[in-house]
Amino acid sequence: MEYRKTLNLPQTDFAMKADLAKKELTLLEGWAKENLYSQIKKKWSAAKKSFILHDGPPYANGQIHIGHALNKILKDMIVKYKTMKGFDAYYLPGWDCHGLPIEHQLLKELKKDKSQIEHVTFRRQAHDYAMKYVGIQREEFKRLGVFGEWDNPYLTLTPEYEFWILKSLQTLREKGYVYRGLKPVNWCFHCETALAEAEVEYENHSSPSVYVKFKVNNPEVISGLPKGKDVYLLIWTTTPWTLIANVAVAVHQKFQYACVDVGKEILLIENSLRETVLAKQAITNAKVFKEIEGTQLKGIVYTHPFDLRKDCPVIVVDYVTKEEGTGLVHTAPGHGQEDFIAGKANGLDVVMPVDHRGIFMDYAGEFKGQHVFKANDLIIEKLKEKGTLFYSDKIQHTYPHCWRCKKPIIFRATEQWFLKVDHENLRGKIAEAIKKDIEWVPLAGEERILGMIATRPDWCLSRQRFWGVPIPAVICRGCGNQHKLFPEVLEHFAEMVKRNGTDVWFQKSIKELMPPNFVCPDCGKNDFEKTQDILDVWFDSGVSHQAVIKGMMARLLPVDLYLEGSDQHRGWFQSSLIPAMAMEGQPPFKTVLTHGFVVDGQGRKMSKSLGNVIAPQEIIKNYGADILRLWVAFSNYSEDVRISKEILERLIDAYRKIRNTIRFMLSNLYDYSPNRDEVEYKNLSELDQWALSRLTRTWQDAQAGFERYDFDKAVKAIYSFCNDDLSSIYLDIIKDRLYTSTAHAQERRSAQTVLCKILDILVRLIAPILSFTAEEIYLYLPKTNKANGPQSVHCLDWPQIENTWQAPQIEEKLKILLDLRPEVLKALEEKRQTGDIGSSLDAKVLIETASDSCFQGLDRNQEVLRYFFIVSQVEVRKVGKIDKGVSPDFPTTRIQIDKAGGQKCARCWNYSIDVGKDTLHPMLCERCVPIVKEMNHAQQ
Ligand SMILES: [Zn+2]
Ligand SMILES: [Zn+2]
Ligand SMILES: [Zn+2]
Repeated sequence: MEYRKTLNLPQTDFAMKADLAKKELTLLEGWAKENLYSQIKKKWSAAKKSFILHDGPPYANGQIHIGHALNKILKDMIVKYKTMKGFDAYYLPGWDCHGLPIEHQLLKELKKDKSQIEHVTFRRQAHDYAMKYVGIQREEFKRLGVFGEWDNPYLTLTPEYEFWILKSLQTLREKGYVYRGLKPVNWCFHCETALAEAEVEYENHSSPSVYVKFKVNNPEVISGLPKGKDVYLLIWTTTPWTLIANVAVAVHQKFQYACVDVGKEILLIENSLRETVLAKQAITNAKVFKEIEGTQLKGIVYTHPFDLRKDCPVIVVDYVTKEEGTGLVHTAPGHGQEDFIAGKANGLDVVMPVDHRGIFMDYAGEFKGQHVFKANDLIIEKLKEKGTLFYSDKIQHTYPHCWRCKKPIIFRATEQWFLKVDHENLRGKIAEAIKKDIEWVPLAGEERILGMIATRPDWCLSRQRFWGVPIPAVICRGCGNQHKLFPEVLEHFAEMVKRNGTDVWFQKSIKELMPPNFVCPDCGKNDFEKTQDILDVWFDSGVSHQAVIKGMMARLLPVDLYLEGSDQHRGWFQSSLIPAMAMEGQPPFKTVLTHGFVVDGQGRKMSKSLGNVIAPQEIIKNYGADILRLWVAFSNYSEDVRISKEILERLIDAYRKIRNTIRFMLSNLYDYSPNRDEVEYKNLSELDQWALSRLTRTWQDAQAGFERYDFDKAVKAIYSFCNDDLSSIYLDIIKDRLYTSTAHAQERRSAQTVLCKILDILVRLIAPILSFTAEEIYLYLPKTNKANGPQSVHCLDWPQIENTWQAPQIEEKLKILLDLRPEVLKALEEKRQTGDIGSSLDAKVLIETASDSCFQGLDRNQEVLRYFFIVSQVEVRKVGKIDKGVSPDFPTTRIQIDKAGGQKCARCWNYSIDVGKDTLHPMLCERCVPIVKEMNHAQQ
């Protein structure tokens, strides 16, 4: 008789080989065909509680990179988890569609520059460009397994969204936050536009470092100086071109300034910096004959280095430092933030001799027509000629650069539209909200954004570009060509935009754009001219809480979560917080979660030049999106996240372990029907109850992980459950029962009951992470007759656990067996190595122990010991004394492996002295004989 056929050997069609890259595509097709998303949406709309994660819009430019994948997968895991937990987790993804990057790319493709462009045509092309990448990125995000409102996302270029942008601007205008002012702004002369703080990058740059003498006109103010010698203020600068706009020299009120006689002239230098400065010219014989406090320098006037101004003042401030330079600071309010503020306080002129291309204008005299950076050398030459250059050199330092064109930028005072951050104590209110109303995860984010808010200048809202929402400001000729942003015009224009989009600003005449019969309230005339500035693109996305949360989604503020890269403390979190606090008096979010950047295996930034870029598309094509999702789940994303070939290989290995564990469970359920075969909890074997207790712990840890957005904790709990509890222990031990018992025997059904329950819960625990694999598993799960159940795992609820399953007393009871098991397996392995035994079932284990507790612990589990150790026989003996135990944990316990007694059963391979006793089945053991007899009987 062929006894093998009487075993219940595992069978399943669930493939060992994942083949995710292919299988995921089939699953995506299925989801689309069955319109899975509409079923999920139905679930959301019926939910009684809500959890809204508001999507920060990626920029519609290029394919997605690995950072996008990290961001969207994190969001998706949260949304899927919350959906399973019964929340309305409506997720409406969006794209940022206006702005400089698209303009740049397009100008490059068209081989044109800004001056050769016609507004409306160019804007159409920009629109098409953005929509093309919206389409590409949408497919790529869907391919990651991210669920959301993909057919109707929010786009900052739709008339509806643009309406909300203008509406928000109008509200802010009405509340008094918007003003026009002259201010130094970050200015890219290459892109010919102002830049927001978030658009500035700091890079290394080589600059001139020059020390210049400014000749004092009234040295008699300082008493006691020798007569007949010229007196100079010595200043230091790394931007010689800004000397053109110099109007003052700033000194610190408390510093001591030395009057240094260097021979034919006298220099003023801050005393502690004196030696370093003089050493540059190797001046050793200088004589200091007077020290004066900064405040006493007030009243000194000097002549501009190029004689562009007479009697420039010395001003006294408190921001001068002793870190570098001379302690006397050249001041040009047209070219610097601090200078601008100090200039305002001291009534200085804001001289701005540089045009939008970075070219000197008339004021610069002989330097007119020169580009500022190219003028540096000429200026230094000229100073040398005039004998006022003390010293010149080059230095390497960090310098602001344009985020787009990567070129160094300048500070330039221009007239712009601003949002006043200190109006109505907005800055203070924002700081309060950051501390009191918003949770920052990780917590370091709070300090970071607080610091940024405390020091940030007013928000420059206007840009001199084409691709964005026009600011409907007009020039009133009646008021002497003043720029005006009339609320009535804003309102009127917003309504026009709602119907026709913002192109109308460029298509229609000024007459058509103004409300009927509108006259300027200041001058009573209606003689207006259009302006051409557009809004900062950060304002577009910054008011998404109006356009999307309140508008499209019809949800309330604040929403539960914003989740973006930590660079957005400077960007979107701030640009959202400021208008929300100004308009609504409350933040748009309750919690802000940030993640780090993706770096290579050695922690380096990814770049084309280093050749270390890993594209998500490649990973998906080679391994599948679930591997990428697993990488995200395992990552400690509060810091920079590493990815490399080696990391991916480890993940694939982990994936395989989870998959194979699940496959083994599925393969033993082919004849199991929960309704027919389920064994009641109280009748489960202790080991089966132990497995449910471990499952309960896993469920708790996974849930705690998801709740705290600590996916690493969740996935580690799941992984170690699969690998340690199931694969290494539980499944290993129950194989014998599953294979050799009669199919319907209670001990087999008991194990199957537990396998089925584990799978039912495990498949839901992994669904937010391994969204594709979970669906594949779900299709293979035994279904109960009770309910047909949803078509997709993603329509299921988060699993519930029976209270009774947590059984610490059983875990405690079996602990000694499980602790001793690795020692027994090790001893068996040693015997296998020497060839004394083949399989472990060939063995008998003799355990001798001097410990009472150990003996009792083993003895009361006597019946199951052989199954735990997967051997044929186990004998436990209490002995008086043991000198050397098997391990530090078992110092008085000894393990001995012998050949098992009796004969090997042909069916179950266990050894038994009873083999041969049955005449009909002389090759079988006492366990197998009745089973085979019963099967034969049933067949007859
Ligand atoms: Zn630029
Ligand atoms: Zn007017
Ligand atoms: Zn047997």
